[in-house]
Amino acid sequence: MTRSTGGHKVASNPPPISNPPRRRGPAPPSLQSMTDVNAAQIPDNWVTATANQPSRGIVRNGNTCFQIAAIQALVHLPLFTNWIREHNAPHPTIPGLLMNPCLYDANDVITTDPYGWGRCVACAVKKFVVRYWSDRNVDVNGVPVPVRLNDAAWRELCAITDIMYPPTRGPGRRVYRDQQDSEEYQTTLLQACADSVDSA
Ligand SMILES: [Zn+2]
Repeated sequence: MTRSTGGHKVASNPPPISNPPRRRGPAPPSLQSMTDVNAAQIPDNWVTATANQPSRGIVRNGNTCFQIAAIQALVHLPLFTNWIREHNAPHPTIPGLLMNPCLYDANDVITTDPYGWGRCVACAVKKFVVRYWSDRNVDVNGVPVPVRLNDAAWRELCAITDIMYPPTRGPGRRVYRDQQDSEEYQTTLLQACADSVDSA
């Protein structure tokens, strides 16, 4: 709120604040604040030798641009990259403890596998992230060489995509040339990662 005084605007006195209604006990944390707390525990710096090199990139093969766009955006986020790297990794100070381990039941079966992949999606994404940021597969100048279809980690992600988010053909089409929704695919992949991690 402002008032005018000879061409200048100055703040007027703020309105009185009424007392908020009283609650019993502390207010439950919002989903955002819980996310902030969890995210604060994950380092957001780059821990890779190729961070200052040009992006590695992924060679498109067929109708995979929606997939490449979604995954490249993810792997260039330090917070996501560091989170997925911690998946199933040994705890730095507690021997025998794994961080964010795979979610298995008592029979060693993945408990959350709505897509029928049969293996841990987070493990497959981690494998690709490690591969993507590896200081190997670089040219003579140290510039990362793009990921190609014959790369084992990329092929595994493509296989998951075929199950989890199969591209549609569109009416009357014999090949998969339909436009796909990259954001929807990315959300599905992220959810599958979160579902396959034991965060308890
Ligand atoms: Zn896993």
